[in-house]
Amino acid sequence: MTHPETRVIHSVVPSLPDCRPLSPPIYQTSAFAFDDPEAFAFSLGSPEGFAYSRRANPTTRALEDTLAALEGGVAAFATASGMGAINAVLLSLLRPGDHVVAQRCLYGGTFAVFTDLAARFGIEVTYFSDTPVFQDNTKVLYVETIANPMTGVSDLPALAAAAKCAGVTVVVDNSFASPLLCQPLRHGADIVIHSTTKYLAGHSDVIGGAAVFASADLFRSTWTYAGELGAAADPFGSWLTLRGMQTLALRMERHCSNAEYVATRLLTHPAVSAVHWPGLAGHPDHAIAKRLLSGYGGVLAFDLASRAAGRAFTSKVRLAALAASLGGVETLVLHPASTSHQALDAAALRAAGIGEGTVRMAVGLEHPEDIWADVEQALDD
Ligand SMILES: *Cc1c(COP(=O)(O)O)cnc(C)c1O
Repeated sequence: MTHPETRVIHSVVPSLPDCRPLSPPIYQTSAFAFDDPEAFAFSLGSPEGFAYSRRANPTTRALEDTLAALEGGVAAFATASGMGAINAVLLSLLRPGDHVVAQRCLYGGTFAVFTDLAARFGIEVTYFSDTPVFQDNTKVLYVETIANPMTGVSDLPALAAAAKCAGVTVVVDNSFASPLLCQPLRHGADIVIHSTTKYLAGHSDVIGGAAVFASADLFRSTWTYAGELGAAADPFGSWLTLRGMQTLALRMERHCSNAEYVATRLLTHPAVSAVHWPGLAGHPDHAIAKRLLSGYGGVLAFDLASRAAGRAFTSKVRLAALAASLGGVETLVLHPASTSHQALDAAALRAAGIGEGTVRMAVGLEHPEDIWADVEQALDD
């Protein structure tokens, strides 16, 4: 088996009679024409064939196969967004009366989905900080490898082992780590979710998602449901994602080293009361991160004195942009309490460990000294 650094570059492309394209072709077609009605019938109902691009498309398949190989899964399907993948997986696994136990510190959009699932479909959702409590009706354990925005790192092997005993399906959102830093299926997860919008595509130019599966049965049932939902990725989006992924290994190295540089400098700045980045020795999950991750990621958070100071910082940066998202080449900042996590009230914010003055920074690929110079001038009064 080749290394992940090699696999992101060599995606599976279809062959022509005596050659093959170096870059996967974009099959920008809604449907495929057949001579044989039986072949048509088979292809329409199977993830193996191509009949209609809402269900399967060769460009998207190249992305799915590459992702499955990177994560060590048996198969994957790609979706139009990370939220598309999250909804397809959850709606396929859950029925009214079922229970989900989810990590407390979650991506804001995912938290909103759980709130809706509870209110609209009678699905019970409870949140945990350290140890999940399983019930008789628990079907899904939901965690993020590196949690947004406070960068907590889940002890995946321990969580997965406990879930296995309880017969609970483990779903891990691996967007913040990317398959280059962690492969949750190897630690016992059943399904890995990605917002490919982030590090995988990597250039802030496409919205996409994916779900990768450890078992063929789980893949098959969820793939069928995703087709009914209409969550499929567009071939051009899949192609952009594959193109971006070819440099994933190089980009992750630089994201991680730039984040280390900024985190280390923030530690000694008088306006900053705490820095949250799993690579720091003082981070509560540093030991877990060291064991599970091959790099500590490009996202960090830091605490300023007040809500006003946090917001002011995000308006004073000049090189960095105030924007949602992360994983692109450029540095982005936001103030979670008033933007991405505004749905959380003061108590919920505290429970998730998010401070009123916390700033999240997705460190980009610029020269580290330029990023720091921008941070420093924005911290000055
Ligand atoms: C962005 C993000 C999502 C949602 O993905 P979209 O592509 O924006 O739909 C889900 N989880 C995490 C951790 C994210 O960062």
